[in-house]
Amino acid sequence: MMTCVIALPDEAATLALSARLARVCDGAATLYLYGDLGAGKTTFSRGFLQALGHQGNVKSPTYTLVEPYELVDRRVYHFDLYRLADPEELEFMGIRDYFTNDSICLVEWPQRGTGVLPEPDMELHLSYEGHARHAELRARSAAGESMLQQFASQQGEG
Ligand code: ADP
Ligand code: MG
Repeated sequence: MMTCVIALPDEAATLALSARLARVCDGAATLYLYGDLGAGKTTFSRGFLQALGHQGNVKSPTYTLVEPYELVDRRVYHFDLYRLADPEELEFMGIRDYFTNDSICLVEWPQRGTGVLPEPDMELHLSYEGHARHAELRARSAAGESMLQQFASQQGEG
């Protein structure tokens, strides 16, 4: 499976990356967002949602675990599982209802839901590099692979 490494010198670069990914994400997709606190997972989610037409705030659903966004032609669920004590809580939330074939799921702290969360199409790993960040994208399914191929072929075109 394909991987792609991207330097993110500042917040604008993180937002640009998420907008580019949103544009190659047609139909359903599940993206796992990894990275330490402050690495930029929520920033990425905001850029992604805004690129799909969301106007206004995006804050991490730390206490509610999930925030739904009904966009013009898309339904996006933004998860933050940081405070999930046990992956089984996801069963009580009715997790399967979110991961449908017409929704996009962005999941911060997916490692908290191991064993219950559906497998991702793509993983994003954000890490610190001094004051900047870098990103590694890893395709994890055929759909993710084709997204990443499109993404890579559009790189440099803004
Ligand atoms: P997380 O959700 O991973 O905890 P946030 O997105 O809430 O992280 O916070 C990331 C912080 O880092 C924000 O203050 C944001 O402005 C900043 N930031 C985001 N991307 C970058 C980047 N590429 N380089 C430097 N700072 C960034
Ligand atoms: Mg966050």
